[in-house]
Amino acid sequence: MIARLHPNHRKIQELKKHLYQISAGYSGECNVDPYIERTHFPQLTKIFTNVHLCISPNFTFEVDTLIISEKYVLIVEVKNLKETVRFIPNPPHLKQELETGDEAVFNCPVYQIETNKSNLNEWLRQRGITLKTQGILVLANPNTVVKDVPPDFPIVYKKQITYYLQNLRSTGVVLSATQIYDITQQIQNDQKKFSPFPLCSYYNIDVNDLRTGLLCRYCNKHLRRNNRETWYCEYCSKDALDPFNDGIKDWLKLVKNSITNEECRGFLELKNPNAARYALSKSSLVKKGKSTATFYISGNRRAITDK
Ligand SMILES: [Zn+2]
Repeated sequence: MIARLHPNHRKIQELKKHLYQISAGYSGECNVDPYIERTHFPQLTKIFTNVHLCISPNFTFEVDTLIISEKYVLIVEVKNLKETVRFIPNPPHLKQELETGDEAVFNCPVYQIETNKSNLNEWLRQRGITLKTQGILVLANPNTVVKDVPPDFPIVYKKQITYYLQNLRSTGVVLSATQIYDITQQIQNDQKKFSPFPLCSYYNIDVNDLRTGLLCRYCNKHLRRNNRETWYCEYCSKDALDPFNDGIKDWLKLVKNSITNEECRGFLELKNPNAARYALSKSSLVKKGKSTATFYISGNRRAITDK
């Protein structure tokens, strides 16, 4: 999106701020995910990152990482904190103490996890499942010193999460295979409501503000044509391997989930319908409709032709 906007567009700052949240969950950004993936989980375990769940039309909550297995439902909250942090119980908050003597106050992560646990318990209860979810705080920075830790609340460094998960005690089976399947479906349904795509409508950006043409994927400048098949960037001195496909993918993420020949021609600045037809046929999109009503959507070609 940022590549397709002029650098001084009014939305650039907001977009840059949100970029991380969209592309990778916070736990991924802090490099905690590889330690979770290393764990030998029970067979039916599902792991979700950056989950938004809806308790009522006006109330949603967010979980960094949610692990659902037959034996437990666990919320993993990741914090990247510097130097020394101290838990202050009343009112609950976290005080960061830097060597420079500077102090900063943060929301108490334990309080945050406890709130999310009760939200998740309620979300499950609304779906006919009564169980107590668990929570753990993971410190992404191995040098963080923690003081006055609340008793009975699990806090580990990211390297210890694998061991913790493998030894997590449970009171037996809390969810059946069917329940895990149903919960998975419902979580995925709730995510659709929070999908930021297409980004133009999510961020309220006029489609006409987008830069058209074929852009370099490294520096976002316009590509130059070498010959019929190849394009290159004169700033990076790099060949563009598949600039048409990159451009079409941009359109699908930014504008809408389908594209017509005319839209493709305009967005990629192609000279005629044949050039657009060629670009679209080389993409992995599926053709729908006939003659002037033809449009293309992403999907599985095989599944469509099988019908
Ligand atoms: Zn370039």
